[in-house]
Amino acid sequence: MTEPYDSIAHDTYNKLLANSVTNPRLRDYFNTCFQNSIDHYGAYQCWACVACLRQGNATQGWGEPPSTCPKCHSRLIYEIATFQSRAPIVGNAFSSAFYYLMQEHFRLPLIATPGNTRTHDFEVTPEIAIEAKGSPSSVVNPDGTITHLDRPGMERSDTKKKAFDNARTYRQRNATGLFFVVSNAIPSDIVGYRNRDVTAVFDVTKVDRLQAMMTEIEDKIDLPSLRVRRGL
Ligand SMILES: [Zn+2]
Repeated sequence: MTEPYDSIAHDTYNKLLANSVTNPRLRDYFNTCFQNSIDHYGAYQCWACVACLRQGNATQGWGEPPSTCPKCHSRLIYEIATFQSRAPIVGNAFSSAFYYLMQEHFRLPLIATPGNTRTHDFEVTPEIAIEAKGSPSSVVNPDGTITHLDRPGMERSDTKKKAFDNARTYRQRNATGLFFVVSNAIPSDIVGYRNRDVTAVFDVTKVDRLQAMMTEIEDKIDLPSLRVRRGL
């Protein structure tokens, strides 16, 4: 995995989940990992006025860009950190947070898939693939304002489509494997969803859903001996 995400997951886990794992604490854990990663990279919602910049003045602000510049009334206002710049940051934050939680609390030995495997982020064995699709629903900006982000996690149709396309590709190569999608934000129409390609979609902010995933894994493979082999 990668820094600073692993350290953020480790520190946040010790602070919030080391003593007890409950649904509210799980939600808090993932939200804190997202926010701390955004803080690290300064990927807040913020804007600048290019007309002012051209005049040698810096006019900028946090949060939603205004339609016109409050100083010069120009419409040449641009957002600095956009969805595209935030996406890899929150994606990595989610992956590290999920990996660390599963290892520490459930003793699940996950392997991050090598770069040439594009269908899923993790596997327990090649027979059990896990695609991680998580992102925050809001960001706290440095001035304390909150930016609400539309359609987090699997609520974004592009994200859902990508996960399901990946499941189809995995299924073409592996007819009997398990393909799980995990997210912190799951729209009501795919709660409990399964099809030929997707074995299950699990909400990582619910203890009973994570336990259900562990049960499916234990039914598929000899988990105790895998733990021994991986030294967990
Ligand atoms: Zn301006």
